[in-house]
Amino acid sequence: MAKIPVGVLGATGMVGQQYITLLDNHPWFDVKYVAASPRSAGKKYSEAVAGRWQLAKDYAANVGKITVEDANDVKCAIAAHKRKKCAFVFSALEMGKDETSALEEAYAAAGIPVISNASAHRWTPDVPVLIAEINPHHTDIIPFQRKAHGWDKGFIAVKPNCSIQSYMTPLHALVQAGYLIKKIIVTTMQAVSGAGYPGVPSLDIIDNIIPYIGVGEEEKSEKEPLKIFGSIINGVIQNAIMPKISATCNRVPVVDGHTACLSIAFGLKKPSVDEIKKVWQSFKGLPQEAKLPTAPQQPIIYREEENRPQPRKDRDADKAMAVVIGRLRPCNVLDVRFTALSHNTVRGAAGGGILNAELLKYKGYLG
Ligand code: NAP
Repeated sequence: MAKIPVGVLGATGMVGQQYITLLDNHPWFDVKYVAASPRSAGKKYSEAVAGRWQLAKDYAANVGKITVEDANDVKCAIAAHKRKKCAFVFSALEMGKDETSALEEAYAAAGIPVISNASAHRWTPDVPVLIAEINPHHTDIIPFQRKAHGWDKGFIAVKPNCSIQSYMTPLHALVQAGYLIKKIIVTTMQAVSGAGYPGVPSLDIIDNIIPYIGVGEEEKSEKEPLKIFGSIINGVIQNAIMPKISATCNRVPVVDGHTACLSIAFGLKKPSVDEIKKVWQSFKGLPQEAKLPTAPQQPIIYREEENRPQPRKDRDADKAMAVVIGRLRPCNVLDVRFTALSHNTVRGAAGGGILNAELLKYKGYLG
């Protein structure tokens, strides 16, 4: 199978660099187009990212030689699309919500599908917020989205906020096994790489915890799960009404890996600790059944050690695509509590975006 040529918008950023790294030698996709802000446009990719933080791979070969384009210049992407250099784009842009929203729509209108990490379209009712193991059926909204906009080949599909990634699949596995979840109280400890470039000033974060991530982070953590657990009704995604979520989000001095501590309350049917572990350990979703290239073999890994999961030890589990859970125990206030971890720039961002693209290709939406 010939590889599909793809573009990365925001390719020079924290998530963009992770895309370039993860797509190196990808069996289905080949990066042929990179774009970022006008600050980077016109430079070779290797020059544009030279000297930037820890990813700092040797980009001299392949993508390193490609000239960075201005992501705002949709005409340039259309020309690349016509030259068969950019069948679809991954969007890892960090700019204003309205600007991002309009720009992603312009790409879709030009017939270039957009698989996005940005939050701009997460609340658009006909845009799916995909976690491939949980709601692959939400891709069925795409024909409605195309019809509503008069788009032929283009569409927009997005990923949720990285802060919820570590616990959504475990919660979904329990709901799927018949255990309704009514309430969640969650406290996140989020890595500095989640803040993008240039990140959090070292004088603010070393020897410190900041009890605030940014505008809307806690609201996103409380609302996005309801859309992901929602249903397609009359051409839009209707949110689920449960669970009720209270989220507190903190920035901690960890480079990569968001950790979350949860207490949850079930409906009338309450599983035992052992039953929950069995559900998690046996869970497989469509990406595993379809053997999508970036899918983790075991999407939920349970660690029995009393001091796991830990970011340094567990964030890279199964290509950094698995979520790692531990410390499951009864809760004195709700029913059970546990700790969950996932790699924020891989599973929570670029790796999750690539898995979504693989899902969309598998479902026939990417040619
Ligand atoms: P970042 O490191 O700040 O990178 C932002 C990218 O956007 C860079 O390539 C930058 O180009 C480009 N850009 C900025 N302003 C632009 C403009 N006016 N026009 C065109 N391009 C522009 O941010 P990030 O952490 O990679 O995040 C990217 C997106 O993913 C954001 O929407 C973020 O919310 C989301 N996300 C991030 C994470 C994470 O863990 N970091 C997780 C999930 C989702 P230059 O380099 O040329 O400035």
